[in-house]
Amino acid sequence: MEKRRLIYLDNNATTPCDPRVVDAMLPYFYEMHGNAASRSHQYGWEAEDAVDYAREQIAKLIQSEDKEIIFTSGATESNNLALKGVYEMYAKKGNHIITTEVEHKAILDTCKHLEKMGAEVTYLKIQEDGMLNLAELEAAIRPTTILVSVMWANNETGVIQDMKGIADICAKHGVLFHSDATQAVGKIPTYPREIGIHLMSFTAHKMYGPKGVGALYVSRKNPRVKVTAQMDGGGHERGMRSGTLNVPGIVGFGKAAEIARLEMEQDNKRLSALRNYLEAELTKLEETKINGNTQSRMPHVSNISFKHVEGEGLMMTFNQKVAVSSGSACTSASLEPSYVLVGMGLGDDLAHSSIRFSLGRFTEASDVEEAIQMVRNGVNHMRELSPIWEMYKDGVDLTKIEWSAH
Ligand SMILES: *Cc1c(COP(=O)(O)O)cnc(C)c1O
Repeated sequence: MEKRRLIYLDNNATTPCDPRVVDAMLPYFYEMHGNAASRSHQYGWEAEDAVDYAREQIAKLIQSEDKEIIFTSGATESNNLALKGVYEMYAKKGNHIITTEVEHKAILDTCKHLEKMGAEVTYLKIQEDGMLNLAELEAAIRPTTILVSVMWANNETGVIQDMKGIADICAKHGVLFHSDATQAVGKIPTYPREIGIHLMSFTAHKMYGPKGVGALYVSRKNPRVKVTAQMDGGGHERGMRSGTLNVPGIVGFGKAAEIARLEMEQDNKRLSALRNYLEAELTKLEETKINGNTQSRMPHVSNISFKHVEGEGLMMTFNQKVAVSSGSACTSASLEPSYVLVGMGLGDDLAHSSIRFSLGRFTEASDVEEAIQMVRNGVNHMRELSPIWEMYKDGVDLTKIEWSAH
């Protein structure tokens, strides 16, 4: 891959394709362009074989059966299919769904939609370290609860929830458990059957595959879960998701899954060392705070608050040389503070002072070194210009100041 001068530390927003993934995809745009549903000629059979092989690689990555993988257009669609599909399919059992305040918008907005359709939704708060309180989860379960949906790893902080603990509570009460595992699959071991997860969403473009292709794992035994299709048509994907399969995308997804399974361990060793180095260096700056439970966190993610330094302004000092994110990519167009960080008890000011660094397979030590320099210089520069920082250094208690309106 040609190296760009802009350092990319925003891999939680999307990852570049691995060149091996693109190589695997190319023939399926050209000589093997068939429709996987065409049963009457070689083009169709080749495409079907390729999809079968990709499905097998993805199933292997999450230790599921091939038939438990439903291809979609991405994690947003998988989340919609899981929540809306379960809500419709299990309407006779109840209308109550439990989720958390810090889910991705694809979950939160789907829940809002379902509330309009008659669902009751409980949005659980999380604790200061980003972890869900399991006792609160259990207390929220009602006789009408049909689904618990909790993300595996948070996109902004990398905090990993206690999936086994949540699954055990769901099993005890006979409630289905869905997880948006988009940030976890392909990065850490994610085995839904072993843990007791019944539905699981993920996407190729967060694991070095192409954009526009994802999957929903749907358990086929103990229990056999069904979801009502949200896309009607030719009955593809066992009737749960119609539409001609995105064969090149699925081939790339499969290749990405194969690489992830084989290289995850070595990638993580390297990335956690780089991430830890980045954090050790940046927390040498005064008044910094690492957000999220550092014992239960993705190895490549760091979310740091730099007190009295406005995040968007800090990013401008990088002069387009380092790509990071303040808040989540989906809400960073607005200047609202990140609801995930606010949910963890950070005040608006500290939430606005936070930067997410997410490393990836193609991040090099020199990238991290350069980013550290840029951040260090930027933070120092902004604090030098800041009257608030000066007052803080002079020992003024900023909470006691009465700011006049003019
Ligand atoms: C990126 C992301 C999504 C959306 O995935 P798409 O494939 O882009 O639709 C959903 N959930 C989480 C946690 C994500 O990080």
